Amino acid sequence: MPWRKPFLPPSSLSRADLSRRAYEVWISETMLQQTRVATVVGYYQKWMARWPTIWDLAAATEEDVVGMWAGLGYYSRARRVWEAARMVCCVADGDGDGNGGVLPGDVDSLMRLPGVGRYSAGAVAAIVFGVAAPVVDGNVLRVLSRQMGVLGDVKADRTVVELLWAAAGELVKAVAGDGVSERPGHWGQALMELGSTVCMPKPNCTACPITETCRAYAEGLALANRGGVRIKEGVVEDVEDLCTLCAPLEETAENEDEGSEPASKPSRNGGILSRFFATTQTPRQTTTASGIDARTMTVIINHARKFPLKKPKKRVREEETLVCAIRRASDGRYLIHQRPAKGLLAGLWELPSHTLPVTNDSSPESRRTQALPYVAELVATQRNKRAVKHVCEIGSVPWLFSHLKLTMHVHLFEIDDAERLPEQGPRERWASAQDIETESMGTGMKRCWALVKKRIGETTQLNPARPV
Ligand code: SF4
Repeated sequence: MPWRKPFLPPSSLSRADLSRRAYEVWISETMLQQTRVATVVGYYQKWMARWPTIWDLAAATEEDVVGMWAGLGYYSRARRVWEAARMVCCVADGDGDGNGGVLPGDVDSLMRLPGVGRYSAGAVAAIVFGVAAPVVDGNVLRVLSRQMGVLGDVKADRTVVELLWAAAGELVKAVAGDGVSERPGHWGQALMELGSTVCMPKPNCTACPITETCRAYAEGLALANRGGVRIKEGVVEDVEDLCTLCAPLEETAENEDEGSEPASKPSRNGGILSRFFATTQTPRQTTTASGIDARTMTVIINHARKFPLKKPKKRVREEETLVCAIRRASDGRYLIHQRPAKGLLAGLWELPSHTLPVTNDSSPESRRTQALPYVAELVATQRNKRAVKHVCEIGSVPWLFSHLKLTMHVHLFEIDDAERLPEQGPRERWASAQDIETESMGTGMKRCWALVKKRIGETTQLNPARPV
């Protein structure tokens, strides 16, 4: 990972080097949110080649920055990164005396910058400035929920999330000791890495270096050994009832495999936790994974997989849109629109798009019927609808957002003569194919444009005199 570098105390760095290092970590951590490392590496390298310092970024145009982000999703993040860079280069040091350009070194000040949440603030503070700040991503939430045995929803339950953040804060303080050092950054990155490589949704407890402190591991071991465990009845009967944070545990068969049904219904009494707490003479845990037989390890892993609590996913909304490539015959330009400044794909350019009403009758013919008046309205040729020619539906592009499953049906139109074409405002214009190639568009829309290009290319080869 090109952004991983040895820690150097901030006091030993020149202002320019400190600025550069903080900038690298900030950009990489922002890109890494919701995106896999393998994808981010290429984007990061291109970004740094174009804007090697925060000053270069602050001097860029918003449009260029958003364009560079295309493909990483959450485009508003790119806009906020740009805004934050501009702030840091002007006033981040608070006195406006021209000493800006270095991101602040503490979490609170970092979080005052646009788009910087506590995760990225923690990462910059810990990794760059050596401050004891927690760095908690989804992987760390999973590791901590297992280590602490918290069976809660780490995505939606604020109380659970805050508890785990607080625990992470205490842990990093204990690890860091006094002063500034590489330890907070190493600790945060190690926890994240453990979550992404070992304590994955299906954990590899056999390879885990911290089984000794893992509550889920210990419970799984007690469950596997319960035939030999002496349970002191009556000491703690309803321990699950004492905890208002965790969901009830489902007790499962010891040899439960992936996909098999639980052996019993959820139980609040006499469940695994009661057995665990009531056990006074649990056989000594094996503190490393060595010496654990395969059956026992399967029970442990299946138990650990219950953490954190998984809530059934909400059904993703489905939507169909018409994406209309409207080609002006006289000069081969296409009408493009800019999306509103807020909301999905904010500020990006697109071929005019129209959301279809939800029906069971989505066929090429019904879509054509709906596309025609939409396009006629757009190009204001109501007095002569024959000027709008529907060439064809070229194809469909499925696209998945986190909350939306979209199918984009790409239609090609040609207009011979536009009596009153739309005013060319800041949010719409007739663009050449070359302009569209370099325009800031979402990746889904770029796929739609690729279909149009292919179609035009094929038609041109067949009949160069008449492109469409
Ligand atoms: S022992 Fe297993 S569940 Fe616990 S932290 Fe390690 S990998 Fe995760």
